[in-house]
Amino acid sequence: MESFDITIIGSGPGGYVAAIRAAQLGLKTAIIEKYSTLGGTCLNVGCIPSKALLDSSEHYHNAVHNFSTHGIEVKDVKPNIEQMINRKNDVVSQTCNGIKFLMDKNKITVFEGVGSFVNATTLKITDKDGKSQEISSAKTIIATGSKPNYFPGMEPDKKRIITSTEALSLKEIPGKMIVIGGGVIGLELGSVYGRLGTKIEVVEFAPSIIPTMDETMGKELTRVLKKEGFKFHMEHRVQKVENKGDKVVLTALNKKGEEVTMEADYCLVAVGRKPYTAGLNAEAAGVKLNDRGQVEVNDHLQTTASNIYAIGDVVRGAMLAHKAEEEGVFVVEHIAGQKPHMNYDLIPGVVYTWPEVASVGKTEKELKVAGREIKVGSFPIKALGRARASMDIAGLIKVIADKETDEVLGVHMIGPRVADLIMEAVVAMEYRASAEDIARICHPHPTYSEAMKEAALDAFEKRPLHI
Ligand code: FAD
Ligand code: NAD
Repeated sequence: MESFDITIIGSGPGGYVAAIRAAQLGLKTAIIEKYSTLGGTCLNVGCIPSKALLDSSEHYHNAVHNFSTHGIEVKDVKPNIEQMINRKNDVVSQTCNGIKFLMDKNKITVFEGVGSFVNATTLKITDKDGKSQEISSAKTIIATGSKPNYFPGMEPDKKRIITSTEALSLKEIPGKMIVIGGGVIGLELGSVYGRLGTKIEVVEFAPSIIPTMDETMGKELTRVLKKEGFKFHMEHRVQKVENKGDKVVLTALNKKGEEVTMEADYCLVAVGRKPYTAGLNAEAAGVKLNDRGQVEVNDHLQTTASNIYAIGDVVRGAMLAHKAEEEGVFVVEHIAGQKPHMNYDLIPGVVYTWPEVASVGKTEKELKVAGREIKVGSFPIKALGRARASMDIAGLIKVIADKETDEVLGVHMIGPRVADLIMEAVVAMEYRASAEDIARICHPHPTYSEAMKEAALDAFEKRPLHI
């Protein structure tokens, strides 16, 4: 039986990054992936394909709605969904091949098949023809990720009642799409099709979209998306969705308890994701799951079996690719005897709508509930010269600081390119900057980043310059 110092089950951003770090540290490393392509949800049916389609649909939207104002006349602009999906597939396969290259470069052994525990140090790999082999591994990291969640009555049939996976490969542009869930997936994929001409109706259980982010972000994004034609049904409780052959019919109860029905060509179910542990045989290794189906871990991401660790979407915390990656590095360095550190308070979150939304640290509500004395500064994107030049005037940046010490506790942004801009806030907060520190840093002109300086000036002493 071949033996390894460390084996990782799952090749998503958590798993493949952990494998690379382990190889860098000189450990004999194996990775087991049940699919023939590496990269997990993120590269195959998540982050990368969704951003590829967001970019394509944004180009189309700009060509139709904004080019003529810029003085660019284009005629007969038409979306070609087949080509958009083909391009997306090319981006995915290039990116996944890149991971295969990185595995080879780092001399990591890749096994294709379902990985399961025989016991705490023996793993079985079963390929798609049912053939299996066993390996032994001193340490194992479970990085098996997550799958789309759904509730009774909204079970996806993957034809008209679909999850994000099917929505990334539709063969037609729907006339109308109902989206259950006004969270990240619903709004990103809703935006893709909305920009291509699909009527989007979002049915959301909570009173606001992107409910886990700062309230101001949800309000501003609702305003912009309504202007783009989105319809929102807030505080609606979905009862059932039915595939009627050429359409879907959704029944929900509104805030007053009245029954509401809606029809569309497709219904996208985007109500969160659930940890994936099927087929792992975790019990055989003494690995316990919690009541949410997540692998139970301690502060070192160690499971109830001392030589087995778990990372990424399959454990508690944000279901984000960069969180999974950091955890992968953390666990391997811990195993190698180093003293790694991970700051869970400063994991940025981004929604790739247009305008983009990005956030780090605490929301205003969280700080108020915690009884913190705070001061809040904000600055509208439309007051920036850069924004007028590009015609991207929606949005704002909000900086929240401690009332007494001026330490920045949360930064929330909605606007053009804030997905990249948020890193200024993350770096500043990692070094425990005050609002004054940020306000006194020279920011290049004209850039969107000037809104960060201005919002910090507003939080510091209520003295922004350009408003
Ligand atoms: P995964 O990426 O889910 O990988 C787990 C891997 O394990 C899979 O390849 C699976 O096949 C394999 N596996 C499972 N069980 C076994 C087994 N027993 N044996 C062998 N292999 C197994 N996050 C962001 O940060 N930014 C984004 O922009 C973003 N966009 C997203 C868009 C969509 C549509 C979706 C669905 C998700 C998005 N996410 C995004 C979330 C992100 O994809 C996940 O947080 C991330 O992929 C989690 O990484 P992971 O390594 O924990 O698991
Ligand atoms: P989410 O948690 O972001 O949003 C789910 C939404 O559905 C919430 O607004 C919730 O209130 C609502 N909801 C829940 N039950 C409902 C019901 N019965 N009826 C109506 N609405 C209901 O989940 P998601 O959008 O499915 O995304 C899953 C995960 O993938 C997220 O954790 C996210 O972090 C990750 N993801 C990240 C990105 C990104 O980083 N840009 C993109 C896509 C996905």
